[in-house]
Amino acid sequence: MDLPENISNFIHARKANDISPNICDTCNSSCCKGPGFALFENIVYIYNLYTLNQLQRNNYSFETNLSLESFIYKYFDRVLFNGSLLAFFPKILSENNELISVPPWNYYQSRDYIYKRKSNYGCIFLENNWDSDNINNHCILHSNNLYSEITQKPIDCVFLMCSSTNSIIKPTNRESNLWISLLDYYFPNSLENFKQLFPSISD
Ligand code: SF4
Ligand code: SF4
Repeated sequence: MDLPENISNFIHARKANDISPNICDTCNSSCCKGPGFALFENIVYIYNLYTLNQLQRNNYSFETNLSLESFIYKYFDRVLFNGSLLAFFPKILSENNELISVPPWNYYQSRDYIYKRKSNYGCIFLENNWDSDNINNHCILHSNNLYSEITQKPIDCVFLMCSSTNSIIKPTNRESNLWISLLDYYFPNSLENFKQLFPSISD
């Protein structure tokens, strides 16, 4: 599925021109200590990789033979933005290789807390447990088409921007609001659609 042009333009407008697209290849992926969110459309691709046994990483084995419903429940936290847009945050691994789940209230405060935890092994979709010294730790969901298509890479991770020293540049409130509104417009009824598909985990 093509990425709607307005979404693609919005992402490009925020990315600084002087940052090389290959910069992620020489970075320790510190952004992945506090993941961005996926849309359900991203998860369909991720689950497809999973069913093909192509969702593989080091230091952690994904549970086998999960239904899509169980896969989502196990590996994502669901958050509703603006009472309308349903977003899915990949879970994070703790120092004991356990999945850390975040309750949907005070969400950003909780994320901040997790991000700052001394032992946070990062997003479940990082190739290795997060380690500040490892500059070869990459997202296993990367795709070359992520600026033109909806892919397995969570869309909010595509939107993320960092500085030339790999510090995350938080979007302004205005940018965040526009981002959520744009996604809600182009991917409407996300909550209703999800409830219809999975009534048992929709609450
Ligand atoms: S911090 Fe920036 S350069 Fe590093 S992986 Fe994240 S987006 Fe890429
Ligand atoms: S999905 Fe990939 S890019 Fe996004 S936080 Fe996880 S490892 Fe990082």
